[in-house]
Amino acid sequence: MGKVLIIGAGGVGTVVAHKVAQNRDVFTEIMLASRTKSKCDAIAEKIGKDIIKTAQVDADNVEDLIALFNSYKPELVINVALPYQDLTIMDACLACRVNYLDTANYEPKDEAKFEYKWQWAYQDKFKEAGLTAILGCGFDPGVTSVFTAYAAKHHFDELQTLDIVDCNAGDHGKAFATNFNPEINIREVTQKGKYWENGKWVETEPHEIHKPLNYPNIGAKESYVIYHEELESLVKNFPSLQRARFWMTFGQEYLTHLRVIQNIGMARIDPIIYNGVEIVPIQFLKAVLPDPGELGENYVGETSIGCRIKGLKDGKERTYYIYNNCSHEAAYKETGAQGVSYTTGVPATIGAMMFFKGLWRQPGVFNVEEFNPDPFMEQLNKQGLPWHELFDVDLEM
Ligand code: NDP
Repeated sequence: MGKVLIIGAGGVGTVVAHKVAQNRDVFTEIMLASRTKSKCDAIAEKIGKDIIKTAQVDADNVEDLIALFNSYKPELVINVALPYQDLTIMDACLACRVNYLDTANYEPKDEAKFEYKWQWAYQDKFKEAGLTAILGCGFDPGVTSVFTAYAAKHHFDELQTLDIVDCNAGDHGKAFATNFNPEINIREVTQKGKYWENGKWVETEPHEIHKPLNYPNIGAKESYVIYHEELESLVKNFPSLQRARFWMTFGQEYLTHLRVIQNIGMARIDPIIYNGVEIVPIQFLKAVLPDPGELGENYVGETSIGCRIKGLKDGKERTYYIYNNCSHEAAYKETGAQGVSYTTGVPATIGAMMFFKGLWRQPGVFNVEEFNPDPFMEQLNKQGLPWHELFDVDLEM
């Protein structure tokens, strides 16, 4: 049915490669390309050599991407490199008439700020070219956005409050490590908090608002309001929302390490000169921290991510909680990657499947909640991320 090119051979790329290879009725030809080709070769070899082709590409360089697209001629690119590469890959897609999907919105390298404005600006170009761009198709953003669309479609006449709750109750046995790319992760969690209330954004100090929340099969975990990218598109696409927040659990050890990293300047994203060489402290830190892709082997416990929603149905107030729990061990056993990479790579694969099946294929740039959630929800159950619903429960909000 479809020829797909995956860009990025990290933790998420590993999972996407495994999952597309498990669905060869949909993905008939597969290529994995990344900055370091040997990483692509190692993943391809584990899956079975003849299933996945591999290539080297510098995704910061549009000409390099165009050369690869022209030689392989994919129909869809799954971008699971870093958010810095979103725009160059979108430019190359337009130049070569290739469709596009990613899991994280664009972020400039020199400013720790993510926003959809840069990618939404491509709307007319993709529309005119008759190409589809699917934005934010991981777990959060991604599944949480589809959960919200599913709730709006089937269970509510009006959404009033949305609290996305993201708990990682896993233990990788390291003193400090991040679950996905350290540079992107540390930039995300150290910025100021922000949430939507009564038609405007409310800013908080980093980790200012927190309380324990109870997660299914896990129990109570201290959870912190942070800003997360799907809030921006969800409040636009569901304008009845009076409040929208994102909560993430952090352990005390993690927060202490983070504070020290910031206080000693290791989270800096501006270049400094060290022994006559220009280095960016956070990039150097990434080089000495554990590789998130290698955390899987000893990772125990599970993640629990979901949406807690209040709204109206048939004139009555209703509460609703939809979530998925994912075991790190089960994810590792299946793909060789831990649960955070798994919960991102599986939805990216399902989004690509939606595209090739013609279910999510429309000219323009879309956030996932703009598409029909039903076939995606059905695939979550089949592809390893089953979901559960609770009605009229205490949302703890
Ligand atoms: P990793 O750092 O493990 O992997 C990133 C990969 O991209 C690496 O293989 C890296 O190459 C490659 N890469 C980086 N720069 C370039 C470049 N210029 N050209 C080609 N390849 C490049 O990250 P993850 O796998 O953890 O994350 C991948 C993406 O998924 C990120 O954008 C992240 O923000 C997103 N994500 C989304 C989530 C969601 O739920 N929506 C959750 C978690 C992650 P090399 O190996 O040479 O360094």
